[in-house]
Amino acid sequence: MGIETLHVLVAEDHDFQRRTLVRMLAGMGAKKVSEAVDGKAALDVFAGGGTPVDIIISDLEMPGMDGMEFMRHVGEANRAVSVILSSALDPALVSSVEAMTRAYGITLLGAIEKPVTQEKLSHLIAKYAPPQPKAARPAAAAMPIEEIRRGLAAREFEPFFQPKVSLVDGSVTGAEALARWRHPEKGLLAPYAFIGPMEEGGLIDELTWIVLEKSAALGRDWLARGLQATVSVNLSLKSLTDPGLAERISARVAAQGLAPKHMVLEITETAAMTDVAKALENLTRLRMKGFGLSIDDYGTGYSSMQQLSRVPFSELKIDQSFVFSATEKESSKVILASSLDMAKKLKLKAVAEGVETRAHWNLLQELGCDVAQGYFIAKPMEAGAFQAWALEWRPPE
Ligand code: C2E
Ligand code: MG
Ligand code: MG
Repeated sequence: MGIETLHVLVAEDHDFQRRTLVRMLAGMGAKKVSEAVDGKAALDVFAGGGTPVDIIISDLEMPGMDGMEFMRHVGEANRAVSVILSSALDPALVSSVEAMTRAYGITLLGAIEKPVTQEKLSHLIAKYAPPQPKAARPAAAAMPIEEIRRGLAAREFEPFFQPKVSLVDGSVTGAEALARWRHPEKGLLAPYAFIGPMEEGGLIDELTWIVLEKSAALGRDWLARGLQATVSVNLSLKSLTDPGLAERISARVAAQGLAPKHMVLEITETAAMTDVAKALENLTRLRMKGFGLSIDDYGTGYSSMQQLSRVPFSELKIDQSFVFSATEKESSKVILASSLDMAKKLKLKAVAEGVETRAHWNLLQELGCDVAQGYFIAKPMEAGAFQAWALEWRPPE
């Protein structure tokens, strides 16, 4: 696709560098170029009602809203856009920002080390491809709240279970409950179709109870049949603001006859933790009662380290984007290795998600990760299928 038809947004605080970039783009044939002096101004252009932006070229260091924060907002806006990062920072740092940007689902054309030259720039611009309709997935596919309400009343929601296995001895260590909606017309729907609307519409707790009770009952059955497996359940941050949450979870799990130490609660780290005090109270109480606590999608959030020190986590779940890139890039491997190292030092169990290939498995084993979860082992399956699967499972040689 030719650059003439694209809308390029340049975010760069340095006047001379910004003008140089704009001039280079014009020289390459760009007809529509917008300029911004910091992240805030760039966001105004990006989120404003004007012509949609196709490519963003952003500096990382800018006063006020910097490039990283800008990328977070771009990611959260959930729109198809391609990004080129420009920076004078250390390549190792830039590469962790690259990982973060990808984790937000942004298409990254690449990073340019300053000074930007016409050659480096045109090389990256040439990689631009118009977004596939699939890229707009989550926001576009969310179901209307009334339909979700109907589905809840008709008991169409249930958890599937995805195995977790030890990278040390290959044994099955547990399974994660992942919500699914058996929609009468649309078939089996994944969480992106309903979690967001449920959180916004105040329905997420209803889902939590469905998943929690089924998971507790199943966990109890596994233990009764000699399968030493923990069951993991995802908790929405929205629920954590309810001061009685910890007590209610304990009561429901106890009613199913499962001891808390056999259940892990996964919480996705996020910048949008609004009521930190209440969330901390709930999490600490759950941990005191014996539940495992896992920090989910580790590495994609925004203040990972800070959260780790505040919440008494027992498990660190490394986001799949880190696993994917680590087998391709040395710098990503370094990030993965140091996350695992940190988990070890903090005495957290390290779980890697998104283990899709033999190469992922081998690398994680080599780096000393404890547990793996992903398509290489098994896809999420119906509750009833898990035990038979666990009996048949043979770890890779
Ligand atoms: P998550 O907790 O990080 O779960 C892992 C996601 O990665 C799941 O997507 C799983 O199906 C997918 N996955 C597993 N292995 C692989 C792999 O090898 N490759 C790839 N590409 N993906 C893999 P899923 O089921 O679509 O769930 C998406 C998210 O929805 C979950 O992310 C979790 O945050 C949320 N979620 C799921 N169930 C619940 C629930 O009951 N309550 C709440 N609050 N959130 C839930
Ligand atoms: Mg999870
Ligand atoms: Mg995750």
